Amino acid sequence: MQLFSIFGDPVSHSRSPLMHNAVFKHCNHPACYTRTHLLDGAKLKETFFSLGLSGANVTIPHKEAAFAACDEVRGFAKKVGVVNTLVEENGKLIGYNTDADGFMYAIREFQNVKKILVLGAGGTAKALVSRFLEEAIKVTVLNRSATRLAYFKTLDCDIYTWDDFTLANYDLVVNTTSAGLNSADLPAPKELIEQVLQNTHYVADAIYGKLTPFLERAKEKNIPYKNGADMLLGQGVLANALFVQNKLSKETIQNAMEKSFLL
Ligand code: NDP
Repeated sequence: MQLFSIFGDPVSHSRSPLMHNAVFKHCNHPACYTRTHLLDGAKLKETFFSLGLSGANVTIPHKEAAFAACDEVRGFAKKVGVVNTLVEENGKLIGYNTDADGFMYAIREFQNVKKILVLGAGGTAKALVSRFLEEAIKVTVLNRSATRLAYFKTLDCDIYTWDDFTLANYDLVVNTTSAGLNSADLPAPKELIEQVLQNTHYVADAIYGKLTPFLERAKEKNIPYKNGADMLLGQGVLANALFVQNKLSKETIQNAMEKSFLL
């Protein structure tokens, strides 16, 4: 029996156990997926091996710590320095990132997206922005504080804090902050959010399981939007394929995983 887990702080809201266990049960794969509340990201590797895990997912605020903990990082995660999926391989910790492709899957119905405003500058923003740049999309990043913005400047993005923001037109605005996850907070001051929503065709939010205050405002304005559930499904399918070492097709995984969203 293999054991998998999700690490995060907070982690009690995570749907990952339901999603992955639905696949394991449907396919009679001998595995179980649980959740681990991890306060200190520096203890990630030691906790992973002491629990005897075969693989894991990582959520806020430990994705950058997960990158640092890996013996080897593969694919897109190497480019962005952010890991959301861990797999044990011959006693070593291998890291991947499946968030960005999961997001592209979620917004596939949105046409002609060439200019994106990203709200937030954390691990999710890093992954998504690098993926957008691969598609030659022009990216602006707006964050509450300045420190994390420096990285995005090196990628040639326009960067702003709330204090120096200059409005432009966007095709899509994406909330990658955790504002609204457990509060009524908007990802930026109300006046600024109102202006931004008046100047975009589409809106998306990485947060899942609820209509965030940000998406509530987009809905009021009849702006087409996606919440984080489709992104979550996409990253989950790709992570599960890594966990079962591609023994199941992605279509089989997706069909089983989608049923868990009805639970
Ligand atoms: P990080 O901790 O790496 O970054 C958090 C970001 O949010 C920072 O830019 C921070 O700004 C900003 N922030 C936090 N609180 C507030 C607030 N009250 N107002 C404005 N900005 C705020 O988090 P992650 O990037 O890992 O995750 C972000 C969100 O995305 C989480 O809610 C997570 O659940 C969700 N997510 C969803 C996924 C899905 O599949 N749907 C996948 C991955 C993540 P500052 O720099 O100033 O501190």
